[in-house]
Amino acid sequence: MSAIILDGNKIASDIRGEVAAEVKTLTAAGMRPGLAVILVGNNPASEIYVRGKVKSCEEVGVYSEKHTPPDNISTEALLELVLDLNRRDEIDGILVQLPLPSQVDAKKILMAVDPAKDVDGFHPVNVGFLSTQRPGLVPCTPEGIIEILKRSNIPIAGQEAVVVGRSDIVGKPTAMLLINGNATVTVCHSKTRDLPGVCRRADILVAAIGRAGMVTRDFVRPGATVIDVGMNKVTERAEFDRLFAGNAKREETFRTKGSTLVGDVHPEVAEIAGAITPVPGGVGPLTIAMLMVNTVRAAKLRRGKRVPELAKA
Ligand code: NDP
Repeated sequence: MSAIILDGNKIASDIRGEVAAEVKTLTAAGMRPGLAVILVGNNPASEIYVRGKVKSCEEVGVYSEKHTPPDNISTEALLELVLDLNRRDEIDGILVQLPLPSQVDAKKILMAVDPAKDVDGFHPVNVGFLSTQRPGLVPCTPEGIIEILKRSNIPIAGQEAVVVGRSDIVGKPTAMLLINGNATVTVCHSKTRDLPGVCRRADILVAAIGRAGMVTRDFVRPGATVIDVGMNKVTERAEFDRLFAGNAKREETFRTKGSTLVGDVHPEVAEIAGAITPVPGGVGPLTIAMLMVNTVRAAKLRRGKRVPELAKA
């Protein structure tokens, strides 16, 4: 038996379609949602992410603008930019692309973003809203995970969920959303004893670790749903062989590009899981789609429109 592949591209595309329709209605009512992205310096990975975000805005009809201050910007100057965006009514979402250069006090910048415009959902006010099940802005990747589960008709309530990783941007908010969805949740990290044994309890296993193919067959109860958040670039031949030996398609990519992308879950897990997200094409596409959802949500929250209960999974 092999797992059902949960197609993140398809789900993200459905969500973008729904967002586009909503943006059209809001725009017709004179409330076109707007997103400002701040990209400091020339980090190539950040440039790619920001390009994807701006392109997605264009696709769904969200107004977007990109601010690109130089790498040597001071905390004060960046703060001024954020405060200016906070003041502008046509800007509903502010996204500060991380990482910021070392001379910038990143915490101070993120704290300065108006919580009502915090489309990344990182501000402590939004973290508090999430944990107390109040309407607010929820981090994009965790919310994307919940969308994958819901739209694939995978039940959450009453299920055993194990989240490996406790970062503020993925692990913790994912655990919180699963708790809000009435799962029984265990959160694991680098100090967890008998990690494979704990993971085997899971009906839903979320891997957000940042280690290529670490979750192997012995971590997974046959039939479990496995959500692979990891995005790791494999460049070493030995590592490639450990993960993809005999996979002709991957071999081709590796040979032509010199690298291939792999999640935190070993591909062998697809042989025993009930359902699994692929990498690439699983959780990744949802992250940007949920950013669009959040921008529209911020527009509606800010401009006083009634929105349904948001923080519940
Ligand atoms: P962090 O590095 O912030 O957190 C990693 C977590 O994994 C930590 O809690 C850490 O434990 C835990 N961990 C590390 N090694 C082990 C181990 N050997 N055993 C058990 N736990 C371990 O990463 P992020 O949460 O930011 O990202 C996780 C992964 O998700 C990365 O691959 C990242 O690229 C990817 N990602 C993908 C996104 C997408 O859109 N698909 C978006 C964001 C991230 P401890 O706390 O004890 O150190």
